[in-house]
Amino acid sequence: MRILVVEDDAQLAQQIVTALEAQEYVVDVAADGTEAHYIGSVEAIDAVVLDLGLPEMDGLTVLQRWRDEGLTMPILILTARDSWHEKVLAIDAGADDYLTKPFHMQELLARLRALLRRVAGQASAELSCGELVLDTRHSHFSYAGQSVQLTSYEFRVLSYLMHHAGQIISRSQLSEHIYAQDQDRDSNTIDVFIGRLRKKIPAQAIETVRGQGYRLVPVESA
Ligand code: CA
Repeated sequence: MRILVVEDDAQLAQQIVTALEAQEYVVDVAADGTEAHYIGSVEAIDAVVLDLGLPEMDGLTVLQRWRDEGLTMPILILTARDSWHEKVLAIDAGADDYLTKPFHMQELLARLRALLRRVAGQASAELSCGELVLDTRHSHFSYAGQSVQLTSYEFRVLSYLMHHAGQIISRSQLSEHIYAQDQDRDSNTIDVFIGRLRKKIPAQAIETVRGQGYRLVPVESA
């Protein structure tokens, strides 16, 4: 899953990026509102961590513009102080949750997981598709109770499919969600990752939909 972090405090931004990458998220970063608005509008972002106090364009305006453009990705706002008024404005403008600075990184991660699984239509911290289970708290997959060891990219691909289980996902869509803006993208490598994943979980769990892409489907173990 791909997260846009918008924070002008470089040190805090780096702390958030480090924490997210440790959980296998793909991360893009913006340090001002104009850049943030641009990246959020053109890139395939699954969720945003948005500071409200930003140079060039404030976070509330960025949020309003995205929502006016019809973008629905979950947005977690960061507020500098315990300002209830700012939070009310942001939530009314379409923010999904908020954190007041200073915050514990574990809380940010937990709130982000909750937003992402709500989009996936699941309430539990464990997402499942048949016997395949993703424990979002530990960024870990298991199949029929057995741990599945994955590389970072394999995890990103399977995590995106799991958050969209049952839906047909194209190669280019997968590619957009497993690489950040500054990384080279090659949708051919998606087939390589899928091939490896099919050796680690039952091959039929990842269906090929001819000419359209891939779909994660439930498979019962024998
Ligand atoms: Ca700020």
